[in-house]
Amino acid sequence: SVPAAITSGISAGARRGLLIKGGAALEAIGQVRTIAFDKTGTLTVGRPRVTEVQGHGLSELEVLRLAAAVESGSSHPLARAIVEEAGSRGLSLPAAANSQTMPGLGVGATVEGRLITVASPRFAAQHAELPVSLAQAVARYETQGRTAVLILDNAAPVGVIGLRDEPRADARPAIAALRRLGVHPVMLTGDNARAAQAIAADLGLEVHAALLPADKLRLIGELPGPVAMVGDGINDAPALARADVGIAMSGGTDVALETAGAALLHDRVGGVADLVSLSRATLHNIR
Ligand code: ADP
Ligand code: MG
Repeated sequence: SVPAAITSGISAGARRGLLIKGGAALEAIGQVRTIAFDKTGTLTVGRPRVTEVQGHGLSELEVLRLAAAVESGSSHPLARAIVEEAGSRGLSLPAAANSQTMPGLGVGATVEGRLITVASPRFAAQHAELPVSLAQAVARYETQGRTAVLILDNAAPVGVIGLRDEPRADARPAIAALRRLGVHPVMLTGDNARAAQAIAADLGLEVHAALLPADKLRLIGELPGPVAMVGDGINDAPALARADVGIAMSGGTDVALETAGAALLHDRVGGVADLVSLSRATLHNIR
């Protein structure tokens, strides 16, 4: 019967670390035309590391100390990397108060009586005139596939931090496998266009960059459907819910896991192609 075939497809998935939450999710995955991937933590390892710090009127260490104080109130992967770097350089962090997160843009807080903001170059450029030395550093990091964040003291740019997040080892073959299945893979990211393009070119997929959370939702509605969305973070939950089916990465946040129709229990993005094959085979058995 139909339910029996679905049930056996779902258990076959579970044995291979592919958690499918029910018949509706399985059907949606079997019929999917476009798969949208979050970049950070999904196509990349999701553990960015600080590779450079440059100050403007402040020392490198002072920039890192202030940035880390602000980021200690954020769970963003970039925040964790900055706090970790400050720790490894032996800096002790001042307290941060009134922390304010701006999803897809950055975070600000009061540190030692000043409003310190750590944010994307785009956000910074909208609120301040960038000195040439910082603008050049941003361009250099981004061209190398890195992410740059700017540090503002009130409205004054005082430094830049560059971070690198490596693509997952199996991301390239995972994208190629989806193409062979006739599925169109797309990367959606809030990161800057230069860094995102460098990574997308390496992995071989189309990219939409510099997206705000609302832009991601709109795009998911506009891509040729049915659309699956693959993500791992709290900030991916709305996109996972908006897609015809959401797929949560292993090690992702509980919110992502709850919102998604399927989840990968092994830490491999290649599980997405396995999910499509398995779901198609299961549906084929029914018809
Ligand atoms: P992604 O789509 O790659 O997961 P996000 O939408 O989470 O990226 O963030 C987009 C951009 O916003 C980041 O590349 C960064 O420039 C900025 N940003 C977001 N959160 C933070 C933060 N806590 N600290 C610094 N920058 C941040
Ligand atoms: Mg993310």
